[in-house]
Amino acid sequence: ILEFDGVNKYFGDAHVLRDVDLDVEDREVCVVIGPSGSGKSTLLRCANRLEAIQSGEIRLEGEAISAPDADINRLRQRIGMVFQSFNLFPHKTALENVTLGPRKVKGISKNDARERAEELLASVGLSDQTDSYPGQLSGGQQQRVAIARALAMEPDVMLFDEVTSALDPELVGEVLDVMGELAEEGMTMLVVTHQMGFAREVGDRVVLMSEGRIVETAEPERFFADPDTDRAQQFLSKIL
Ligand code: ATP
Ligand code: MG
Repeated sequence: ILEFDGVNKYFGDAHVLRDVDLDVEDREVCVVIGPSGSGKSTLLRCANRLEAIQSGEIRLEGEAISAPDADINRLRQRIGMVFQSFNLFPHKTALENVTLGPRKVKGISKNDARERAEELLASVGLSDQTDSYPGQLSGGQQQRVAIARALAMEPDVMLFDEVTSALDPELVGEVLDVMGELAEEGMTMLVVTHQMGFAREVGDRVVLMSEGRIVETAEPERFFADPDTDRAQQFLSKIL
C-alpha cells in the first residue's frame, strides 16, 4: 500500500537514501531499525512529503505521492505521522488538539469531531484528560494525545518516528501498548524505533538501514535469532 521504488535522496552532496525499495503492505507493521544517521527519519519524512526525493517514486495505493503535482494536503490526511517530540498545540486542550484537524481540514462538524475525539482519547486511555492542556500531561500522555490526533484524520497508514525516545523509561510502555493495540486493529504502520521488544512482538517485518540503504529485511523472529547479513549481526551485537 505504501511503496518506495528506487528512492534516492540527497542533502547537498550527502546521499542519504540509496535506491530504497520497500513495500509496506496493507495492515502490516513494518519496523525500521538502524544506527544513527542511517536515514530512518528521512525515509519517513519523504513518505509524508516533508522532504522531496531526487529520484525514484513513492506511491500510496498506487498513486505517486512523490510527484510534484501530488495533492500534499490530501496525502497528509492519508498518512498520519507521530514524531519524537509531541508537537501538540500548548494552548489547546487534549480534546481541541484532536478535533482541530478534522474540523479545519475535513470540515467535520463540531459535535461529530468532539464525539470522535472523545472515542479516540478513550481508546488511548485518556478519557479523564480530555480537558487537560499539554503542560498538565506527562510525556507519555502527551504522546498518546499526539497519536489520537493523527488517528482523527482517519489515515490509511501511520508513520512513527522514535515516538518513545523522549520519554522517561516508565512511560515508554503505555505508548507502546497503544501502538500495539493499533496494530492489532489492523492499522498499517511504518515504525522507526529502538525498542527491540516492540519490533519482535508487534512487528511483522524488520528492516535494517545502514548508510541510506536497506541492508536486510526479515521476519522479526528470524532477524533477531539468525540474521543473514554481517551488517545485521554487527548491529545486533551492539544493541542486544
Ligand atoms: P537517528 O537514529 O539519529 O534519528 P536517522 O537514521 O533518523 O538517525 P536521518 O535523520 O534520516 O537519520 O539522517 C540521515 C542523514 O541525513 C544524516 O547523515 C543526517 O546528518 C542527514 N540529514 C538529515 N536531515 C538533514 C537536513 N535537513 N539537512 C542536511 N542533512 C540532513
Ligand atoms: Mg531519526
